Amino acid sequence: MYRSNTCGELRIENVGQTVTLAGWVQRTRKMGGMTFVDLRDRYGITQLVFNEETNAELCANANKLGREYVLQVTGVVNERYSKNDKMPTGDIEIIVSEMKVLNASDTPPFTIEENTDGGDELRMKYRYLDLRRSNVRENIELRHKFCLAVRHFLDAKGFIEVETPVLVGSTPEGARDFIVPSRMNPGQFYALPQSPQTLKQLLMVAGMDRYFQIVKCFRDEDLRADRQPEFTQIDCEMSFVQQDDIISLFEEMTKHLFKEVRGYDLGEQPFLRLPWAEAMRRFGSDKPDMRFGMEFVELMDVMKGTGSFPVFNDAAYIGGICATGCASYTRKQLDELTNFVKSQQIGAKGLVYARVGEDGSVKSSVDKFYEPEVLNNLKAAMNAQPGDLILILSGEDAMKTRRQLCELRLLMGERLGLRDKNKFSLLWVVDFPMFEWSEEEGRLMAMHHPFTSPKPSDIAKLDTDPANVLADAYDMVCNGVEVGGGSIRIHDAELQAKIFDVLGFTPEKAQEQFGFLMNAFKYGAPPHGGLAYGLDRWVSLFAGLDSIRDCIAFPKNNSGRDVMLDAPSCVDQAQLDELQLILQEKKVN
Ligand code: ASP
Repeated sequence: MYRSNTCGELRIENVGQTVTLAGWVQRTRKMGGMTFVDLRDRYGITQLVFNEETNAELCANANKLGREYVLQVTGVVNERYSKNDKMPTGDIEIIVSEMKVLNASDTPPFTIEENTDGGDELRMKYRYLDLRRSNVRENIELRHKFCLAVRHFLDAKGFIEVETPVLVGSTPEGARDFIVPSRMNPGQFYALPQSPQTLKQLLMVAGMDRYFQIVKCFRDEDLRADRQPEFTQIDCEMSFVQQDDIISLFEEMTKHLFKEVRGYDLGEQPFLRLPWAEAMRRFGSDKPDMRFGMEFVELMDVMKGTGSFPVFNDAAYIGGICATGCASYTRKQLDELTNFVKSQQIGAKGLVYARVGEDGSVKSSVDKFYEPEVLNNLKAAMNAQPGDLILILSGEDAMKTRRQLCELRLLMGERLGLRDKNKFSLLWVVDFPMFEWSEEEGRLMAMHHPFTSPKPSDIAKLDTDPANVLADAYDMVCNGVEVGGGSIRIHDAELQAKIFDVLGFTPEKAQEQFGFLMNAFKYGAPPHGGLAYGLDRWVSLFAGLDSIRDCIAFPKNNSGRDVMLDAPSCVDQAQLDELQLILQEKKVN
């Protein structure tokens, strides 16, 4: 037996017991004839005491211990003279009588403390040391608890977890695939799944009725703080359901997880369901942060053509937000906001502002172009109060300008302390458009994915006005983050073929890429739908993290590299030969 107890377990009631602990040396302190060692394991830290007077040899050995040495110690639990109420074990210490060094350690490259001196890259290179830090470990533990709670909930609702393959075929829609060459089929490639979308639909055709899987997905995209090339989804699908059935079941799961795992009560009220078009109009985003208001006010009627300001007079959209109590912003603070808007280059023209003074008067950066009456109309339209700052963006592309105003709203929300990480605001965004126009491809693309069902009432519009067809698709949004999304699926081979046609596939190409699905639909596909949650995002929201990386045991960095494993890396010529692959000469600039 290596240990009788863990390093997080002993309390005042254990005083007098002889115990054996094992763990890592967090730090040692020599004070006069006494040496104190903090011994750490996953469960906590316990203070060990070595006394020169009572056991000089043992104490001398303790003085030689380095950080992260692995020890086994036996001793008696003693009540501490000076207690530490910051540590759960802070009332006691162990008077050590025996010590065995189980393993020595090199000095770690950074301190293994909650606040470490290690930079990001170094911590990632030595992630196994980073994971010893309690705050990092807690994120991994939270993730485990989260997954367990998901499995229990879904199991109780009749879902079964079914694994789907990791080596699948490449599909043309969606993000870029990671591809894997096949040695046994030279010149041919597998792809890693971007999600198990078509496979879970086939499981519905197979009569599985309720499926889920906590599953890795792979997308070869440019990375941001909340993106990883491989990430985990809670993937779900159900048969014989409509949108309402799915929304209410997963709303129940969400409330349950918040309560069980985060200890946060989302209340009895159903989540708000906001149509996509309204979300874009009021917040400029399909994932609005609803922890605060600061809704957009459209100002076309008030500011366009009512003065001589050319920028507004040429605009296709003018919108404002009202920042409570910010009228006292200095020139420098306003310049910062202007620079923020400029640096983003989303498409809006420069920032226009108006301060409402304590006496109710309005002073704006475009005063010279407008009569005072117009500025008063502006104040009224914005419902601005004395002390408020009105921020206005305009542009020739309404959608782009709204998106930029959304960024400004989020920034102001942050500045005003309205984006509290311990507060959660959830909603569904519904009624997404089926398609969006891709400038790059010069065609309509599926906004969700090509298997999403159009709203039945909009099917007739597929021929005449596809850009305005709405989908039975929904996203769950929490604090401005899309935590999940899904849709009712097409289960009719003919309708599926029609959608491929709108997306610009020839019948032959559609058959080649998705024949397996359309064939399956000929054999009694049930009506079905589902959704997938981003596990990493959700756990990082619960943990209050800015990056999903911190809740992944072995994440990749911003260039998609695993710096610990040094992957990706070159392979031997023999491996390439076996795969019949020839690498192009590296292009030198
Ligand atoms: N497979 C979809 C996705 O990864 C989710 C869904 O429609 O269920 O976004």
